[in-house]
Amino acid sequence: MSEVAERAGAGAAAQTILELLPEPVILVRGGEGEAAEIAYGNQAAREVFRIELAGAPLGAALRRPEVLETIEAALEMEAAAEVAFETIGVQPRFWRAFARPLAREAGGERRLVVVLRDETDARRTERMRADFLANASHELRTPLASLAGFVETLRTHAKDDTEAREKFLGIMAQQATRMARLVDDLLSLSRIELNEHIAPSGKVDLARTVQDVSDALRPLTEERGVSVMVRVDAEVTPVTGDRDQLVQVIQNLVDNAVKYTPRGGKVLVALQAAATVEAARQPSRSGVGLSLLSPDAAESQRYVVLRVTDEGPGIARQHLPRLSERFYRVEGQRSGGTGLGLAIVKHVVNRHRGGFIVESAEGEGSTFSVYLPIAALQS
Ligand code: ADP
Repeated sequence: MSEVAERAGAGAAAQTILELLPEPVILVRGGEGEAAEIAYGNQAAREVFRIELAGAPLGAALRRPEVLETIEAALEMEAAAEVAFETIGVQPRFWRAFARPLAREAGGERRLVVVLRDETDARRTERMRADFLANASHELRTPLASLAGFVETLRTHAKDDTEAREKFLGIMAQQATRMARLVDDLLSLSRIELNEHIAPSGKVDLARTVQDVSDALRPLTEERGVSVMVRVDAEVTPVTGDRDQLVQVIQNLVDNAVKYTPRGGKVLVALQAAATVEAARQPSRSGVGLSLLSPDAAESQRYVVLRVTDEGPGIARQHLPRLSERFYRVEGQRSGGTGLGLAIVKHVVNRHRGGFIVESAEGEGSTFSVYLPIAALQS
């Protein structure tokens, strides 16, 4: 192949690559008093900025005056520039534009390549991180403020009051426990998130695990006057899982159920086999059910369903979708918990490629169900 033909071939390939790039790329020309215009826009640029024709003014694509000014100044000075901006529409998006001048041929015009990067997802993640940090700090601040207040009281007004001192020390111990629980839950959540993309490979006997958790909770349930019944169907087989994490799931669900059930009431923990994902999702009662997490699963996947049913006050429909958000609590309920329990459940179940459903109505108790893929028989 001749050198010219080879170069032409490489040029065509470069053009194709440019067209296929997912990032919008625009070639701008102008300067020297002339308005900047678009010489070329790749497919992504044409779609995102709805520019059809080469020769359109740059302002047709980039409407924000400050963006236009930055690019025009870069063109005029043949210098690199960078600018961030937001496009509004049905879905607002955040962009960063990188402008780079092209070397000018003798007598040629000024040209600039503008590459746009969509930073919407990065911004969203950043916002979530900031919100989470603000919430976590706020949650820690409340018991901390109370501790500091009691320390001050013990040093001053209650200095010589033995009775008050005992009482305040009791409250302080409670607040310290609460802070420790919060830190433990935060650490758990962050550990689970770190390996959420790696599915567990162990084999867990859920029937035994449920029994172990229920035995461990006995002192608490007896103190609260609530009985916990465990019912395991004969067809239940082991699931693929991480035992410690599944203990946390069962513990958090049973803990909540016991916490909200009035004295003398019952909590039922049931394990059932489900031959398909449809069967696993079957409602266990009439009323309002909502899936908080649903796996991408083959129709033939078999599951074990864990259901925890309580005789508590139930949860109004509008709260259901938000229950597994971090720190979300139903107003008017002072659980004394961390607000992280159901978030932990959701993340563990997600790692296990399982599903999570809540069924509840005000005045009718609640059923929280988790379904987990069964382990392969031979392994
Ligand atoms: P917490 O530590 O506050 O219990 P969770 O994440 O476990 O945090 O639960 C979030 C909220 O969901 C609780 O604060 C409570 O309002 C509600 N909730 C959870 N489980 C139940 C239940 N079994 N019955 C009624 N409300 C519940």
